[in-house]
Amino acid sequence: MEEVNVVQTKNGTVSVASAFAGHKEAIQQRDHKFLRIAVEEAYKGVDCEDGGPFGAIIVCNDEIVARCHNMVLRNTDPTAHAEVTVIRKACEKLNQIELSDCEIYASCEPCPMCFGAIHLSRVKVGNALLFLRFSIYLYLLLMLKEFH
Ligand SMILES: [Zn+2]
Repeated sequence: MEEVNVVQTKNGTVSVASAFAGHKEAIQQRDHKFLRIAVEEAYKGVDCEDGGPFGAIIVCNDEIVARCHNMVLRNTDPTAHAEVTVIRKACEKLNQIELSDCEIYASCEPCPMCFGAIHLSRVKVGNALLFLRFSIYLYLLLMLKEFH
């Protein structure tokens, strides 16, 4: 039988730390997989000169519903950030304005406008903590690419 870590706090609430051994690692691997695809989108956007180095994907039931990158230059639209464009794409594809069943993964921490779009669409954020780690990762990769 799997070992379950039960944590009891001072106010008496009980939480289960993990449902099964390796649960945390499985979630991290999933998040890394989707964040890596979002970063690939960022590279794609830079390569085809569509806009800044930002990518985003929307996932529903472990399947990618939409993927896009920053389209500010291509669309001559200062609001065409990766998160906004991918939300628009996903809504169009799913023919709905609410994405509460979906998750968004972005290559960078979203700006205030994109946070607004994420809030309005009700899409869940894949893993907020990994945003920062990947932002630094992407920045370093782009810096290396720039100077070599
Ligand atoms: Zn933005």
